[in-house]
Amino acid sequence: REDVFQVERHKPSLTRCGTAICVGANAEFIEEMKIVEDSGAEEVGLFRTEFLHLENPDATEDQLAAAYSKVVKSQAPKRVVFRTLDLGGDKVDERLAVEPEPNPFLGWRGIRLSLGRQDLFKRQLRALLRAAVHGRVGIMFPMVSGVQEVLEAKAVLNDCADELTAEGVDVPDEIEIGAMIEIPSAALSADLIAAEVDFLSLGTNDLIQYTIAVDRLNDRVAKLYQPTHPAVLRLIAMSVKAARTAGIRVGMCGEMASDLTLTPLMIGLGLNELSVATTQIARLKHAVRRLNVQECEALANAVLTCTSPAEIRSLSRAVADRNY
Ligand code: PEP
Ligand code: MG
Repeated sequence: REDVFQVERHKPSLTRCGTAICVGANAEFIEEMKIVEDSGAEEVGLFRTEFLHLENPDATEDQLAAAYSKVVKSQAPKRVVFRTLDLGGDKVDERLAVEPEPNPFLGWRGIRLSLGRQDLFKRQLRALLRAAVHGRVGIMFPMVSGVQEVLEAKAVLNDCADELTAEGVDVPDEIEIGAMIEIPSAALSADLIAAEVDFLSLGTNDLIQYTIAVDRLNDRVAKLYQPTHPAVLRLIAMSVKAARTAGIRVGMCGEMASDLTLTPLMIGLGLNELSVATTQIARLKHAVRRLNVQECEALANAVLTCTSPAEIRSLSRAVADRNY
C-alpha cells in the first residue's frame, strides 16, 4: 500500500467531493528542499527558521537573505511560509538569554523575544522581505498570545518594508501574514487576530501543552497529552470558525495534522491546510483523497458533544477505516 501512496504523491490533494485541502511540508533546513519537492508537498506550510539561526547566530542580513532566497527559489511558484524565530522554550540561544528562566516555556519565547530584540527581528524581517521577491512567501509569527503582539509585529514588518524601499531595495507589493494559534488566549481571541492577518495556523504541539497544562517533553505526564481532549478540539473549532468568518485560510502545522486517524475530524472541523513532516505527505494526501467533506462534517458535529478523548478518537477512526 505504501507503493500506491508513493505513486500518487504528486496528484492534487482534493477530497472525494472535490474540496482542496492543501497538504504542505514542515521543514527546517535548506538541504531538505529537494526532499520537500520530491515528497508531493503542495507548499512549505511551516519553515522553522530558528534552526538556521542556531546553526549560525551571527549570520548577517545578506547571508540570511541569501539562505531564505534559496528556499523560496527552490519551491517557486509554491508558497513557503516562514515562521519568524521561535527561540526560547527548548530552543535556546544561550547568548540571548539574559538569565536562566524558571519556566522557559512560559517565558521569553517566540514573538516575545523577537519584539524584545528588534535588532534581531528586523534583520530577519528585512532578509525575508528581500527573499520574498523570488517567489511566494508567507511570514508567520509564533507564540502570539493576543492581537496586540500581531499589531506590534506587523508594525515592525511595515517599518522594514519602508526602510528597504527608501534604500532602493525591491520588496514585494504584498506579502501574506499569518499568526500561529498555539496559546489558548490566542485561540480564545482568534476573531480579533483573524481581522489582522491573511491566515491562521494551529500549532497543536504547544496548544495541547498549554491547554491541558502538560509538558510536551515530559514522559511522566505523556498520558495526559491528548490531542482529542474536548477542550483542545473546542479551541481548534473556535479558531477555524474565526478564520472562516473573517474569510481567511486556516491550517494546522502541529504533529496532530499528521495523525491519519484524525484526518476526518480535521477536515470536518474546516481546516484548509495541513502541514506535516515530508515522510507523511504521501499518506496524508491519499487519506484526503478518500474522504468526503459531508461525512467529515457530520463527524465533527458529533464529537463536539463527546466527553472522552478515546471516544472522539474512535469515532474519527471509524470514518477513517471506512474510507482508507
Ligand atoms: C506547534 O507548536 O505545534 C508547532 C508547530 O511549533 P513547534 O513544534 O515548533 O513549537
Ligand atoms: Mg509551537
